[in-house]
Amino acid sequence: MAIERTLSIVKPDGVWNGHIGDCVSRFEKAGLNVVAMKMKTLSRAEAEGFYYVHRERKFFGELVDFMTSGPCVLMILEGENAIARNRDIMGATDPKNAAPGTIRADFAQSIGENTAHGSDAPETAAFETSWFFAGTEINKVVRR
Ligand code: ADP
Ligand code: MG
Repeated sequence: MAIERTLSIVKPDGVWNGHIGDCVSRFEKAGLNVVAMKMKTLSRAEAEGFYYVHRERKFFGELVDFMTSGPCVLMILEGENAIARNRDIMGATDPKNAAPGTIRADFAQSIGENTAHGSDAPETAAFETSWFFAGTEINKVVRR
């Protein structure tokens, strides 16, 4: 199994509902290392570019409105199989379908305001991590 990096976002609802720590704690307990982290209120251009693949979807405007409505916590998680493991910890996109004990089942309000983002493949992880972080902002983290 390869060591991967993936982009994780605690979305604005996760911040305003006080779940930053809950999300980070779940990642750390699962053995994923936070190797980069910052809080940022996204501009419309940053959110539109990040979600470019969804630009034709009818929820795109609503998604950009939501993602720019308050600060996000942006993170790069690193570890074995980090991309799929982060998605497992988050749960399904719609909290109604998310498995019990996942971030979205426990904290999300709706399919739109769903608390967390995680890259879905190696190619999207590479694009998404570089969208928000320079190489010099990524740290080496070794557990003791
Ligand atoms: P995921 O975040 O699980 O990878 P998608 O990539 O399909 O899900 O969608 C990106 C984001 O767009 C979702 O996390 C959610 O915030 C929003 N979204 C997806 N589907 C809908 C929908 N039907 N209505 C409103 N917002 C949606
Ligand atoms: Mg997605």
